Amino acid sequence: MKQLLRNLNVTEKRVLLRLDLNVPIKNGIILDATKIINSIETINYLITHNAKIIILSHLGKVKEESDKENNTLYPIASALEKILNKPIYFEKDVLDPKLIERTKELKQGDIMLLENTRFMDLKGNLESNCDFEFSRLLASLGDIFCLDAFASSHRKHASTVGITKFLPSCIGLSLEKEITNLNSLIISPKRPFTVIMGGSKVEDKLLLIEKIIPKCDYLLLSGGLANSFLKALNFNIGESLCTRNPVIIKKLKEIMLKFKEKIMLPLDAIVGSTYDENYTKYKKINEIGDNEIIFDVGVKTIEKYKKVLINSKTIFMNGTMGVYENKKYSNGTKEILEVMKVSNAMKIAGGGDSVSAIKNFKYEESFTYLSTGGGATLKYLTDGHLIAIDNIMESDEIEVLDV
Ligand code: ADP
Ligand code: MG
Repeated sequence: MKQLLRNLNVTEKRVLLRLDLNVPIKNGIILDATKIINSIETINYLITHNAKIIILSHLGKVKEESDKENNTLYPIASALEKILNKPIYFEKDVLDPKLIERTKELKQGDIMLLENTRFMDLKGNLESNCDFEFSRLLASLGDIFCLDAFASSHRKHASTVGITKFLPSCIGLSLEKEITNLNSLIISPKRPFTVIMGGSKVEDKLLLIEKIIPKCDYLLLSGGLANSFLKALNFNIGESLCTRNPVIIKKLKEIMLKFKEKIMLPLDAIVGSTYDENYTKYKKINEIGDNEIIFDVGVKTIEKYKKVLINSKTIFMNGTMGVYENKKYSNGTKEILEVMKVSNAMKIAGGGDSVSAIKNFKYEESFTYLSTGGGATLKYLTDGHLIAIDNIMESDEIEVLDV
């Protein structure tokens, strides 16, 4: 097992804690605080264990000077103050030569929050290019590095990877939980193990499909993903979203032939049309017209998928059944979530839209675990490892710290 925070002595140490505080903010108001709340357990652990806490995070994309205003972590400092009921020392300038002194003045349980690490991208992509000197500078602000930003663990940045070269490093509590839960899908899941995948782009998910299909018992498809498979099988899908890449289409056909017992495709659909935005029709999958667009799965598909889901012992969901953002096309997603609610399976969901749909439709409670990672979740399930976690040494490789 990688070096875990729980196994280190952090008392009186300056712990550089890399979190994922990349929350949606509009006009200074935090729209969804989930990522902040997910970070509290590790922060509280460090407070209780008398560490001095220095938090690092990115927020949004910072490409030009004007991006700074909307991507400052300042509103997060106020949110943390309210949740933790203690002052957060916010540091605007990571390059301030006096900052190192101020980190040394911190007392046990004190918390400092450094400004968005991506502000340094305006000085030659120091963060995103994992600049050596910038990594060293960040490391000089702490005694131990703790990575607790699962959603950023697939990125080789200074604050996720570069810093591990200079400090004893460990994995925080939420990241540990994330890996343990995702491992239950990769390593001997209870069977039948069903993967239900939908969403828009097959290109983003092809590698995961190839990797996970030998491991699962059923792969239930919908959305743009299913459309691309249907196209590969020569169905007319009208103007539905699908890949146009002939190499991918050929690949999908091969996958379909090789795993035809496992893969299930929609039998019917709710369609719209290219010429009339009020047009909505129920169609069998072999009756789609040239101008029609598949936006959701139909009742027969839902029934077929329900039968598989209800008998499954492990379910992984990624991507929505249809265009869930539009009320007219949210039924498939809702119905599938409803059946998952009554199933006794271990249920894990991953992906930004999947988690968002689950929360919007209030099915959060019925899931065993909602992975916070988006891209990192898919990458971990595909490759079985992530670059920033790889850089944290195994506990038996690390020098024992002064316990
Ligand atoms: P996640 O973020 O969970 O990985 P995706 O982004 O792949 O999921 O999928 C969700 C997106 O897919 C939603 O924006 C949804 O509107 C879209 N989508 C689902 N079905 C269709 C469809 N039939 N046609 C077009 N877009 C679709
Ligand atoms: Mg998405």
